[in-house]
Amino acid sequence: MRIDLHAHSNVSDGTQAPAGLVSAAAAAGLDVLALTDHDSTAGWAEALAAARGQGIGLVPGMEVSCKTSRGISVHLLCYLHDPADPGLLEEITKAKDARLSRAERMVERLAEDYPLNWDDVSAHVAPGATVGRPHIADALVAAGIVADRNEAFANILTSHSRYFVSHYAPDPVLAVELVRAAGGVPVFAHPLASARGRVVEPETFHDMIDAGLLGLEVDHRDNPPENRVWLRKLARREGLIVTGSSDYHGTGKPNLLGENTTAPEMLERIVDAAKGSQAYLP
Ligand code: AMP
Ligand code: FE
Ligand code: FE
Ligand code: ZN
Repeated sequence: MRIDLHAHSNVSDGTQAPAGLVSAAAAAGLDVLALTDHDSTAGWAEALAAARGQGIGLVPGMEVSCKTSRGISVHLLCYLHDPADPGLLEEITKAKDARLSRAERMVERLAEDYPLNWDDVSAHVAPGATVGRPHIADALVAAGIVADRNEAFANILTSHSRYFVSHYAPDPVLAVELVRAAGGVPVFAHPLASARGRVVEPETFHDMIDAGLLGLEVDHRDNPPENRVWLRKLARREGLIVTGSSDYHGTGKPNLLGENTTAPEMLERIVDAAKGSQAYLP
């Protein structure tokens, strides 16, 4: 069984529609894929229909953008929650709206130095999709300013850049509580990805565990090996689920479907703990 529990469609910053993503997962030889768009469940129906058609397993999920009181970015994966639960829905809607005004402000700042306007960016955003810096990167690529998203993130779009604007995102402890209240299974995404920026202190892990965190995404390309050792120990000590995933974004990132995978018994624990919606597992 090859199980990949973290992938993005163009409902957020992936480059394929949900159905195209599911086809790509089947072609890559995966048995189960989780769709985890940023702050949105809008791709679930299309992905589930495609999965049924192709006979590949699908776990509906989401990746919630969070920020600690010290301003550290945390991504929380959640699986099989009730997408209509008002508490969680209200928070992700707030974050999604804040992402849009934030992207507009970043484009205003960029327009002072580059030939770029909002229409250039929105051309890369599917209708209703969660807007992020990757879409601004796509516009910079189209304008010939950078070669790819990675180059855009290396300087113009980093959090240290003069063009960077932050946005509202819930505290990870609140997000864990809301995911549990919505019947979902919260898993800390790429928890010690030190190359991405500052990572949280052990205290934050414990606060999230106390709030109901159920898993850690240990096998992710952005977690360095020594950090995975620490994460595995923490998982063993706290009885947490351990996952491995690609964080595939289509052509938007080098990450390949199935480059990291999750053990079947871990998926079983996720499915058993979920109360909000159902996976399609043929
Ligand atoms: P945002 O959520 O708008 O702040 O943008 C962060 C998103 O950009 C993350 O979800 C990543 O998937 C994506 N991202 C971060 N670094 C890179 C990179 N070097 N190349 C492509 N995408 C990236
Ligand atoms: Fe992303
Ligand atoms: Fe992430
Ligand atoms: Zn992701």
